[in-house]
Amino acid sequence: MTTVAAYAAPAAKAPLERTTIERRAVGEYDVLIDIKFAGICHSDIHQVREGWGEAIFPMVPGHEIAGIVSEVGSGVTRFQVGDRVGVGCMVDSCRECENCLRGEEQYCLKGMVGTYNAVGRDGEPTYGGYSEKIVVDENYVVRIPDGLSLDVAAPLLCAGITTYSPLHRWNAGPGKKVAVVGLGGLGHMAVKIAHAMGAEVTVLSQSLRKKDDGLKLGADHYHATSDPKTFEELAGTFDLIVSTVSAPMDFGALLSLLKVDGALVNVGAPEEPIALNLFSVIGGRKTLAGSMIGGIRETQEMLDFCAEHGIGAEIELISAAEVNEAYERVLASDVRYRFVIDTATI
Ligand SMILES: [Zn+2]
Ligand SMILES: [Zn+2]
Repeated sequence: MTTVAAYAAPAAKAPLERTTIERRAVGEYDVLIDIKFAGICHSDIHQVREGWGEAIFPMVPGHEIAGIVSEVGSGVTRFQVGDRVGVGCMVDSCRECENCLRGEEQYCLKGMVGTYNAVGRDGEPTYGGYSEKIVVDENYVVRIPDGLSLDVAAPLLCAGITTYSPLHRWNAGPGKKVAVVGLGGLGHMAVKIAHAMGAEVTVLSQSLRKKDDGLKLGADHYHATSDPKTFEELAGTFDLIVSTVSAPMDFGALLSLLKVDGALVNVGAPEEPIALNLFSVIGGRKTLAGSMIGGIRETQEMLDFCAEHGIGAEIELISAAEVNEAYERVLASDVRYRFVIDTATI
């Protein structure tokens, strides 16, 4: 076991503070990673504040991890000391169910093991990326290509794969009209990735406040959902809409913007159930779908795609001591577009 410094919430809703945690000894198939950068995802805040139900404390959040391998177990074949690597939202799964076997470990039938706020297969709680080091089985580690800086790569491990996966699955590409709802941490990645895939990209945001940013990130069009004319003008326009918003919305209105056979895919999750008139999917044979992160193989594919296209996240680098303030700013949508902790400051 190794004692490492970390930032943790000692109890639900408590501010994060510096502490130490124990990392397990490096096992046969494990890699030890010196964490360099850790992104702050909105779901870190949900979990620290128990917005998604009872959680495990102390909690070290962080599932957007980028670092360097500093030790490998004797059975490790995929990584060497010095490799640039990332860890996303999961650190294990059953490896035997049909979903694990086809590389969709995020949908493991026995439940994936979350990078934090979860219990590992060894029965010990997992602690995330707001820390100096982490030990992870090599099968749940991905390689960060040389062309990507580690700081802007870190948010790709959640925000990047969460948006890449549905864009890829629903064939965003040349000739396709794709709308991205919300221009935050997830939305800004969706815009960059959909643009790089060759799609015609529209941002649908509450207001036009971030319009200049959206166009710079790669959007071709930008519309305000607060303006009723948006819904008249764009009715029946899109092949695919990816919604990154976790606030309640008028899903019927969004579905009206799809072409026949179009799909509205949610990666943001409103906490309350929604009411929907099913005629909004019946008319036009539309799909209302959801998507959660991506498998390990697909996460690697996303990182390779981003490196090839020069895509990183737009980040604001902070010290660990600024994390509580950063949480408040995330809640106020006051970040363009992802906070990343320089873990050397822990
Ligand atoms: Zn996340
Ligand atoms: Zn499984």
